[in-house]
Amino acid sequence: MKITLAHGSGGQSTKELIEKIFAASYKNPVLDMMEDSAVVGGSNKIAITTDSFVVDPIFFKGGNIGRLAVCGTVNDLLMRGATPKYLTSAFIIEEGAELNELKLIAASMAQAAKEAGVIIVAGDTKVVDGNGRIYINTSGVGFIEGEDFASTKCEEDDAIIVSGSMGDHHAAILSHRMNIKNEIASDVAPLCDMVSNLQKNGVAVHAMRDITRGGLGTVLNELAEASGKCFKIKEDAIPVNPQVKSFVKLLGLNIMHMGNEGKLVCVVAKNDAEKALQIIKNSKYGENAAIIGKVSWGGGVVMETALGGKKKVGILIGEGLPRIC
Ligand code: MG
Repeated sequence: MKITLAHGSGGQSTKELIEKIFAASYKNPVLDMMEDSAVVGGSNKIAITTDSFVVDPIFFKGGNIGRLAVCGTVNDLLMRGATPKYLTSAFIIEEGAELNELKLIAASMAQAAKEAGVIIVAGDTKVVDGNGRIYINTSGVGFIEGEDFASTKCEEDDAIIVSGSMGDHHAAILSHRMNIKNEIASDVAPLCDMVSNLQKNGVAVHAMRDITRGGLGTVLNELAEASGKCFKIKEDAIPVNPQVKSFVKLLGLNIMHMGNEGKLVCVVAKNDAEKALQIIKNSKYGENAAIIGKVSWGGGVVMETALGGKKKVGILIGEGLPRIC
């Protein structure tokens, strides 16, 4: 069955769509009240974020737009040292979208939310003219109990750690779009386990970013600019899955600008570097973590290449690549 404009009318079809798909998947006492807004408990300090997801295709190896919409927002909360608590979910659905696909997407969102320990407390659905595409916006709220993480807190000699291999999500989406057959799957995942393990063990995390659109190169440049420091990294130390490596080589892409959806980079105090690395490696989704460099005086991002040379790493300029999130 396909979605029609009647599903967005606000009448009986809308009611059925909301009850049978969204309310049934997300089920929790706050949402079940079906009031005009959700009333939830609070905290002294909260983190808030919002993101829209327009990835094409909506289903890809390793995930779909629903899992992405939960993980993207949950990870942005985690990156400030917050514990994610509540999400909202707004769908803009073009007429002609498949009802079954919508069901699968809502189920993935519910599953990812459960894994991340958040509940979806409010939502919205609009149906518009179009070609059956689906767009999702999620907003999230998290509680901050300890220190918040911020780029400005990076210090000289801090270690730079990535939580795993670069470029997986990006390469999976590109492969799908270009009809290239391979085993590359998206890494889309909520990073709650590794972040809470770092916090529980008292690691001095200064800054943290998820490596999404723009890739590691762009994220490190943002950190360098915000902190007024130089980020020195070693090309050899950056984990890349062999299949992604060949894919990148084949297409002449730059791995430093290829996004992930389940990887983070963190900047931790020098004395905590090894401890942090072990904690991340022992956490869910962190087995291939590596220390890739250190923070030093100066500015920008400088990479020591595999051949021993030095080069500046820039940010991603222009569009260049397809919509990956
Ligand atoms: Mg982010």
